[in-house]
Amino acid sequence: MIKVKVAESVLILKQGDITQEDTEALVNAANERLAGGGGVDGAIHRAGGPQIMEECRRIGHCPTGAAVITTGGNLKARWVIHTVGPIYRGGSQNEAKLLESAYRSSLSLASDRGIKSLAFPSISTGAYGYPLEEAAEIALKTVIGYLKEHPEIKEVRFVLFGEKAYRTYEETLRKLVKGD
Ligand code: ADP
Repeated sequence: MIKVKVAESVLILKQGDITQEDTEALVNAANERLAGGGGVDGAIHRAGGPQIMEECRRIGHCPTGAAVITTGGNLKARWVIHTVGPIYRGGSQNEAKLLESAYRSSLSLASDRGIKSLAFPSISTGAYGYPLEEAAEIALKTVIGYLKEHPEIKEVRFVLFGEKAYRTYEETLRKLVKGD
């Protein structure tokens, strides 16, 4: 685990299963139809129970780069913020901006709802194929930039599934902090 201070807030990187986190909100890497699926999306719905899907059905749809919110069902987290990262199609289809927007929309929804702590997975780097190194840089830069402007968010955790993702985020964070 790594813990760094960013302005008034704390940024944590850890390896693990996001469904077990006790932040106020978890962020889900959802799809536009909010239909559930594999990866972290499936894990969150399994752990949280059917109430989350019921609320997703009522909401219906979320465009790529945007975010919506449901309650957390049986999770420790009270809320789930569902965001949709881009499918990676080589990098020239506005993927970087859309990935940044997925993080910013999630953070901004948390701010609007008075949520002070949230946990992110590595959005778009599973089934959606975003190269891990590039995605880690966008994820960390966006969160760090947001925390500097928004002290109301006290803590952001990245919960990385597996050692490779963890190490990539760790290295990327070290470079970013050094270059500050
Ligand atoms: P996407 O469709 O946005 O690529 P995936 O769920 O396929 O979403 O993958 C996103 C990331 O989430 C991947 O790095 C994957 O390893 C990771 N992941 C899968 N299950 C979990 C989990 N339980 N907790 C945290 N991260 C997870």
